[in-house]
Amino acid sequence: LIAELIRSRKPVADWPPMLFEVVDNIRRKDTLLGDAFESGSAIRATLTRGTRETLAEVDKANLRGRGGAGFKTASKWTFCHAAVAEEEGSVICDIGGNPERFIVCNADEGEPGTFKDRVLLTSYADLVFEGMTIGARVVGASKGFLYLRGEYRYLLEPLEAVLKRRREAGLLGDNILGEAGFSFDIEIHLGAGAYICGEESALIESLEGKRGRPRNRPPFPVTHGYKGRPTVVDNVETFAAAAKIGLHGGEWFAAQGTPQSTGTKLLSISGDVSRPGIYEYPFGVTVEQILRDCGGDDAHAVQISGPSGTLVSWQEFGRRIAFEDLPTAGAFMVFHRKREMFAAAHNFTHFFAHESCGFCTPCRVGTELQKKIMDKIAGGHGTPADLEELKHLGGILGSMSHCGLGHSAANPVLDTLKKFPGTFERKLKALAFEPAFDLDGALE
Ligand code: SF4
Repeated sequence: LIAELIRSRKPVADWPPMLFEVVDNIRRKDTLLGDAFESGSAIRATLTRGTRETLAEVDKANLRGRGGAGFKTASKWTFCHAAVAEEEGSVICDIGGNPERFIVCNADEGEPGTFKDRVLLTSYADLVFEGMTIGARVVGASKGFLYLRGEYRYLLEPLEAVLKRRREAGLLGDNILGEAGFSFDIEIHLGAGAYICGEESALIESLEGKRGRPRNRPPFPVTHGYKGRPTVVDNVETFAAAAKIGLHGGEWFAAQGTPQSTGTKLLSISGDVSRPGIYEYPFGVTVEQILRDCGGDDAHAVQISGPSGTLVSWQEFGRRIAFEDLPTAGAFMVFHRKREMFAAAHNFTHFFAHESCGFCTPCRVGTELQKKIMDKIAGGHGTPADLEELKHLGGILGSMSHCGLGHSAANPVLDTLKKFPGTFERKLKALAFEPAFDLDGALE
């Protein structure tokens, strides 16, 4: 429908309202989405509290990156400070306005099965922009980018409208809320549909107008990011959480979740469930509990955090969503016991072969070989040697690739081989006992 609307060039104002009401599908559990948010309230609280104190609150909250990696947000913001401080020979800059630091919101939500950032940007854009503004205040940036996934092109105009309203309300631009020297504005940069641009250094390359190719690290973007300058790149949900921390403080945030994984997590729940949608849970919730809530009866597997994440089998449903157990960027794909898990793994190999950026050989060739072996097995021509070859390839991809895409490209196959070996064996048996061609005539 969205593709058709874009092709028709209809003004966004004339699009069906249901596109902007995805939030109706949200089953709220707590905090991040649970209460009304007044634009500017978190910035006001930050200005009253002071910059160092706000950083201390983010630290006390133990906020960790919601993109999946779980890096501590306060540490990232502090490193960005320190990088500038080193250059300036000072300690922490309390006043924003240095054009040479940047805040980037990673809204390149391309992981299959993940759509919670889309909902945040559709219905909670103020919260996200407010979090970016607080981040800018803390690190002293005057320029921010929202890197929007190309497939979310239809959100561009509504988001521009929110930015315009915020500028008019004095929440963006020069001297924000009358605070002398606190200047910050946000530009939206549209991606072009490459999954790899969700990787922060590839995203920065793309922002600079180059091909989205992951950089060598170190140095990390936090010290050498956009145009070689200190850059904070955080996920949409991380900024939304930062806004809530700016408003309510770190203790309020840390009251939920587990000691290592504080706060709540948004999950995009899809697949064989009767109530799909966006759910918010305190960290530490079990897979079993989530399945009960979303109607995932008779599930026998859940793909956590998309194909680059972890496949959890029914024996493991007591495990918890938390950085210390099952970290996730948000995808929660449920598979009913009648699903053929081989088919899911097969599908994911096509995804990775398609999305490999082609820069390094282990990934460029490895993902293609992996796909071809899976095609062969799916066609009924697989042998046990192919399974060994898949494991061997998985080892090469995981250890020799240049970036996270290659490192995780074999996860679905290796996880499925380990946890559902029967789904592969049945395909191989098909070769031994059910010839793919008709032998009847020849036998007669
Ligand atoms: Fe590109 Fe894959 Fe190499 Fe990453 S691992 S740089 S996606 S070819």
